[in-house]
Order: sequence, then structure tokens, then C-alpha cells
Amino acid sequence: MSNRRSADSRLVDNRLPFKTSHWFSEDAPDPKASRAFSSEESAKTEATREEREGWSKEKPRKPDRNLYCDIAIVGAGFAGLSAALEIKCRNPKLDVSIFEAQHAGFGASGRNAGWLMGLPPLLWLLEDTENEKRWEEIRFVSRNIESNLRELKTFLKEQGYSPDQIWQPSRHHLVARNALEEATIRWAAPRFAKAGYPTEQISAARTGDIVSYPARSAIAYEIDTIHPFHLVRSLKAICERNAINIYEDAAIQSVKSGHTQVELKTSAGYMVRAAKLILATNAYTDRIERNFPIPEAKPKHTYMLATNPLDDATLDRISRSRAPFGDPALSFYIGRLHGRSLLFNGVDRDSAVREEDDRHVRSFMKLERALFKRFPFLDSTSIGSAWAGAYLQTGTEAPIVGTVPGHPNVILSIGYGGGSGVGTALMSGKLTADLATEDRMDSDAERMRTLFASGMRWPIGGFLRAGLSILKGMISGSI
Ligand SMILES: Cc1cc2nc3c(=O)[nH]c(=O)nc-3n(C[C@H](O)[C@H](O)[C@H](O)COP(=O)(O)OP(=O)(O)OC[C@H]3O[C@@H](n4cnc5c(N)ncnc54)[C@H](O)[C@@H]3O)c2cc1C
Repeated sequence: MSNRRSADSRLVDNRLPFKTSHWFSEDAPDPKASRAFSSEESAKTEATREEREGWSKEKPRKPDRNLYCDIAIVGAGFAGLSAALEIKCRNPKLDVSIFEAQHAGFGASGRNAGWLMGLPPLLWLLEDTENEKRWEEIRFVSRNIESNLRELKTFLKEQGYSPDQIWQPSRHHLVARNALEEATIRWAAPRFAKAGYPTEQISAARTGDIVSYPARSAIAYEIDTIHPFHLVRSLKAICERNAINIYEDAAIQSVKSGHTQVELKTSAGYMVRAAKLILATNAYTDRIERNFPIPEAKPKHTYMLATNPLDDATLDRISRSRAPFGDPALSFYIGRLHGRSLLFNGVDRDSAVREEDDRHVRSFMKLERALFKRFPFLDSTSIGSAWAGAYLQTGTEAPIVGTVPGHPNVILSIGYGGGSGVGTALMSGKLTADLATEDRMDSDAERMRTLFASGMRWPIGGFLRAGLSILKGMISGSI
């Protein structure tokens, strides 16, 4: 039996080494000590009516009594943690609590592929290049995501973290293997540039340094790659040092929004009352019983494989320059080296977000076939880990951020997905803090929320234009 066939049967038998974010946790260093934002953060506010009536403000790790807080955040991924930090930075006196069903970073934030870009929702790139007004709006969003990421790096440094443990500047390569992919990347290049990501064209002769599989050409642009679990756990540690309460293993079962406050019920049956609620539960939002609607969006699943550690010769055979790469096949396939392992990511499918979706064998088989097609010599290499994760995606890939109409105490910060989900989810703090604190309106945040909301139409014209343009490029050999 060939190695290839035995690998396939291992998948069919569902005996893949499945993990979740724990794969990344194995090499996440311990968080270092960090400083509090302000000495005021621990200042006790006067006992509230709720406390006097027996609604406790003490914070066990797992709620074992009824609680009251000023701001309750559900979900400890990038969206929930960044919202908590921004709110606490703006007003250290506010009592901010996060409720997480599993552990911080359990969701997509702790187990993603680690591509960190300031690009807007990728479907926006379908916009007509002549529409200058729209491109000014797209650049506005990109600039804000980028500047937020720069501030985050500085902030982590101030908090005692070494940014190079968490992320590295990388040159990402989009590789074209055939005429269709070549026309696609040529179509994409000016759009990336217009959004603020200038690209460099790479000839067929030079692609050999990037990947070992045959390619016609490539484009390169600068991004960061991150260690997702390390970033999420660092944010968690900073939250805790700044008197933000994080309850793990604390699933919220139902939410009832009222005129003056919101009531949450934990799966253990305890009640949490809060003046404001931020829902940062992304793909899992629909599982919560609630008395308000949320805009339509679909949970999707995406899949990852990690090889066991490889020797130098094999690493060289994958990529002499050890560069991250991807190719625009029907599902984008992306790969990068993490330590001595190759991480390979691709295959998106609509899902219901059940455990079976995390272990969808046919998706893993498709992903493994795509991996072996590109690197046949890995056929005999064992896969060290396989995992999947869910994110919520709207029709135009723009997130859903804002108060729910008719429910001013409920703020949604969900729908971070697609190719730039990490960068946009980390913006959640900037996008929601003014709504939660009501101290002053942030005009940039307001404009972004409006753009995200108004961008929620399907870009049919954009698809047609892109299709025609790519076809033209294939026929003429250039665009
Ligand atoms: C495999 C994979 C690869 C990806 N790769 C990339 C990439 O390379 N680059 C990129 O930009 N984006 C990528 N993404 C997308 C990106 O990871 C997400 O967009 C981003 O992490 C979303 O963050 P979030 O905080 O909104 O959601 P999540 O990280 O999913 O956080 C939601 C949290 O809410 C908790 N929760 C849910 N329901 C409840 C409840 N009832 N009570 C309490 N807590 C609850 C969950 O346990 C979870 O921890 C990828 C996603 C996946 C799945």
C-alpha cells in the first residue's frame, strides 16, 4: 500500500490527530508581568443597589452566584478582549466582565492561520477601480485597521511583552499555478495597491525560491504573521492585570434585554445583570436564546493541517526562502512554516458549528489532497495535527457592529471572518467603546460602523466585472 493511500485511510477512519487551539498552546510562552493602566483601576466604587440587594461584585473564575457588572462582554476572542481593554482604558472605573464558554482563545482567535492584514473585507476589493469615492472609503477602513494594529504592538510592548514573540513582519506571496490564477492575481494587484498594499510582481524564474511547486508568476506584499494563541492569551493576561474579570467555563445560555439593563443567564443557572452587553460570540451567536434579532450571517468552517516537525532538507524543498505563500484556487490555500512544521489552511464550508464540523473528514481529505498535490514529497510525512474553526460571515464579509435597533443596551460585535478577520476583530474595541461608555461619540468609529453596515449588499456587479476582467486577462495574457 502506498504512503498516500494509507494517509487517506487514516482520514476515512477518522483517526486524525484532532486538536483545537491547544495545538498553538503547546509552545505559547508564559505571559510576562504587565502594568495596570492606572492606579485608579482597583478603586472600589460605592455599593450599588444591586450589591445591597445581594448581587455580588466579587469575582470567582467561574460564576457561582448572581453577579452585577457595568459592562458584560460575552466571548473571549480578539473581539471580546479588545473591547474590554479599550473600554477599561477609557474609563478604568467601569466594572467590565467577560464571560467565556470555554477558555479565552478557544474560538477562531486562538486557532487561526495567523495572517494579519489591514485589508478591508476582501469582497470590497471587487469595487470598480474608477470609483474614487468608494476607494477613499475603503482606504479609510484599511488605514484605521493598520493604525490600530500599530497601536496594539506599542501597547503590548508597554505592557511588557516582546512583540517578536507574537508576530513577525512577513512577505506574503500569492502564487499563480495556471492561466486562471495568473489572471486573478494580476486583477488583484492594483486593488491591493489601491487599498494600501503595494505589490511586487515576481517572475516565474524567481517563484522557485518561494515554493517548490511549478508556478507561472507571483505577487508579493508585506503583512505580519502572528502566533494566534499567544496573542489572545497575552491580551487575556493584560485584561486580568487591569481588573477586567474574565470568567472561563462560563457559557451564557440566554440574554434578555430590558429598558435599563440586560439580564444574562449562565448555563449553571446564575444570573448576571449589566447596564450594557457586548456580544462578541461570532460564529456561535445563534446558540444563545435572546429577545432581539441579529442581522443574517452564516457560520462557516475552515480547516488546517500541521505536519510533524520537518528536517532542514524538507523545509528547503517546501520553500528555500521559508516564505509564507498562498494560491487563489477556488478555495484560497495558504501555507507557512511555524517552527519546523508546515501549516496548511483552506476549504471553507457553511456549517452549523457542531463538534462534527470541527472534524469533517471529507474537508480534511480535500485539504490533504491539496497539500500533497503541491508537495508530493510530503506524502510520507505524518500529519501532526488537524483542526478546524468557525467564523461568522455576512454577505459582504463586513462585520456587524452597533447597537441592536430598539435595544440600546445591546451592542453586537460579530461577523469577523474571511481573509482579514483577525485585523478587523482586533478593531472591535475601537468600534464599540463609545457605544458602551456613552462618554463621547468617536467620529471615526461611527463612520466605520456606517460603512460596514452600508457595505452589506452583495457585490453582483463587482463579480461580473472581475469575471470579465480575468477572462480578458487570460485571453490576452495581460490585464
Ligand atoms: C482555521 C481558521 C483560520 C483562520 N485564519 C485567518 C487568518 O489567517 N487571518 C485572518 O485574518 N483571519 C483568519 N481567520 C478568521 C479569524 O480567526 C476570526 O475572524 C477572528 O479570530 C474572530 O474573532 P472573534 O473574537 O470575533 O471570534 P472567536 O475567536 O470565535 O471568539 C468567540 C468566543 O465566544 C465564545 N462563546 C461563544 N458562545 C458563547 C456563549 N454562549 N457564552 C460564552 N462564550 C461564548 C467562544 O467560545 C469563543 O471563544 C481564521 C479562522 C479560522 C477558523
